[in-house]
Amino acid sequence: MALDKKTLEELKQKLLARKQKLEKGLEAIGEETERPGDYETRYNEIGTDKDENASEVEEYVDNLALEGNLEKQLADINRALEKMKNGTYGICEKCGGEINIERLKIHPSAKKCMKCNK
Ligand SMILES: [Zn+2]
Repeated sequence: MALDKKTLEELKQKLLARKQKLEKGLEAIGEETERPGDYETRYNEIGTDKDENASEVEEYVDNLALEGNLEKQLADINRALEKMKNGTYGICEKCGGEINIERLKIHPSAKKCMKCNK
């Protein structure tokens, strides 16, 4: 593997920091279900009149989209951490080639190499 221990450790720290941020963001808008890494968007009751109901729904729809997005990113990070454990980190899931280190530094949860990601 082209990744040395030091680089791998740096990337791992990056992933863990990002994971923490994502979990915080998810906890702000939802609740974690019994499945780890799976969140449910919270529905905030603002009030009972028509305008208030409309803003509740609007907020919920926004949060739902945000929640889905954050959850996806979190899943990618967990997957990358998992791959670090079993030694398959940094390998393109499509062609099996090595993912460029510079690419991993920018995007540590990358699953595919630059070529396959196009
Ligand atoms: Zn590839």
